[in-house]
Amino acid sequence: MKTENGLSPESAESNQETVLQGISAASGIEIGIALVVGNSPDTPLAFREVLPVTIQESEISSEQKRFLAALDSTRQEIMDLRKKVDDFLNENDAGIFDAHLLIVDDKILRKDVLNGIQNWKNTAESVFTKVMQQYISAITSVEDPYLKERAADVKDVAGRILGHLMGWKRTLLDHLPGQRIVVARELTPSDTVMLDRENVQAFATETGARTSHSAILARSMRIPAVVGIAGLLSKVHNGDMMIIDGYQGIVILNPAPQTLEEYASKEAENEKLFNDILAEAGYRSETLDGYRMELSANLDDPENIGDLDTYGAFGIGLFRTEYLFLNSDHIPTEEEQYKVYASLAEKCGASPVVIRTLDLGGDKLSSLIPFTQEPNPFLGLRSVRLCLAYPELLIPQLRAILRASVHGNIFMLFPMLTCVDELDELYRILADVKNDLRKEKIRFSDDMKIGVMLETPAAALSAELFAGKCDFFSIGTNDLVQYTMAVDRGNERVASLYRPFHPVILRLIRNIVKAAENAGIWVSVCGEMASDPLYIPLLAGLGIRELSMSPVALAPAKRVIRNMNFIDAVQVAERTLHCTTQEEVLQIAGAFLEQIAPDVSDLNIKQ
Ligand code: PEP
Ligand code: MG
Repeated sequence: MKTENGLSPESAESNQETVLQGISAASGIEIGIALVVGNSPDTPLAFREVLPVTIQESEISSEQKRFLAALDSTRQEIMDLRKKVDDFLNENDAGIFDAHLLIVDDKILRKDVLNGIQNWKNTAESVFTKVMQQYISAITSVEDPYLKERAADVKDVAGRILGHLMGWKRTLLDHLPGQRIVVARELTPSDTVMLDRENVQAFATETGARTSHSAILARSMRIPAVVGIAGLLSKVHNGDMMIIDGYQGIVILNPAPQTLEEYASKEAENEKLFNDILAEAGYRSETLDGYRMELSANLDDPENIGDLDTYGAFGIGLFRTEYLFLNSDHIPTEEEQYKVYASLAEKCGASPVVIRTLDLGGDKLSSLIPFTQEPNPFLGLRSVRLCLAYPELLIPQLRAILRASVHGNIFMLFPMLTCVDELDELYRILADVKNDLRKEKIRFSDDMKIGVMLETPAAALSAELFAGKCDFFSIGTNDLVQYTMAVDRGNERVASLYRPFHPVILRLIRNIVKAAENAGIWVSVCGEMASDPLYIPLLAGLGIRELSMSPVALAPAKRVIRNMNFIDAVQVAERTLHCTTQEEVLQIAGAFLEQIAPDVSDLNIKQ
């Protein structure tokens, strides 16, 4: 079998060029060195100090136990390594590990860390790294070449212990040993947000699909990524040279010189085309016949607020607040959340800022919240269900959003509703929160608009009921497709069954738009389909007035909108509603895009 490049995808012989097919998660091309990241210490970990994190009195003993367990695992690991080296080399070479074992079993180190946890009330890793840093500084300050060399051993062992305390994978991910392409079986959304932004060039994983949250993050972080590559870990080794082609969703191991050349020029062409399109970022988002379509940004990280100007966003159409929880070592307080929301509102001025309440659960699991292992997490205690079960998570967030509402044009959005009684319950809690704020004489905007995310089939089919109870709709197509097609959005094994272009999805969207029009409320789409150049004409034709997407996709989307007539889009959408299969819809959408914006179609910008 040959790929489109004519390259052969056979299994990797040591230095032979090998092409592996996966799923494009984020476009772009990167050429670099693989770093295989697992849950075990394949790669030496750089020791560093971990910032202090406070614990409660009741947590002291479990933190101490965690530290002792990390020492045990490190001892075992060094003994295993010693045995391996012993079997292949001679006793002298294996002897180095005895010195390492002495460090692990050092009584003073053990006592200092256990006491430190007790006295400073900090987590095991922060106390351990602080104590260790003092040892290392003491050793390196002595002008003795022998001792200086020993400092390297101490750091090596300290890195191992730290790896066991924090989990090898996570510790390595936020501290890569240089520019690398990260290769892993799986990267969860919380792994992905931790990635060392300075050094990660791209990533490739065995699991995942296009709308898994890690793939969405890769697009907003502008990290080229390919996911869902079967057998990846058995073919890539640490240090292998590889190409990540995020456009075609392929990975090329040990590329031949000619392939490297082809890729260098391909990347330059794509960059040029993208920059040409980006130059139009400030143009009006209007069709040739004057239909206005608002284009706003999905934001995961408040630090990326500058992207709104760079890529030409009207405002924030979706702020995913759960990343504040995934990025933090503690549950963000009301005050901390308030500061983030208020600052976003101030920076956006009169432009809308849609703040979605917490959507944790599913594949977005935070170690801060003790999730029990659920057999079907996407069908479990996710999103508003979690918030209604734990009002202590919801109430501080509602207070923070309400307080921030006086700083700008904030809208509140509730995710993943299925039934209107959930919305009623949320309104009851919201009313109580407002009453409390009034009593405390804290200002908030009483008429802040409330929106409902329509992302379950139950909600989409009850759109008329929801429309009478809220100010706007936002269609979350990532989940709407997942739940309608009964396909896990992050599972590569069923990725081909995840069919956003299936006519049944179009019909659900049309149903929602009709209900919104009857009630006179606004409707936007904030799932990944909103940024797909093939889908944009269909959404416009179905009556959608706003698209919210990863900022980098805004300029290509604008080019599509500016090149089409609304009246044509209505006809195209109407035809697709009568199709029977996804393939028929894709054919119609593909032909239309080719006609109106062949450049965007060529570039295959599926950001
Ligand atoms: C969606 O489901 O389409 C959506 C925008 O929400 P998320 O991707 O965060 O689940
Ligand atoms: Mg969703």
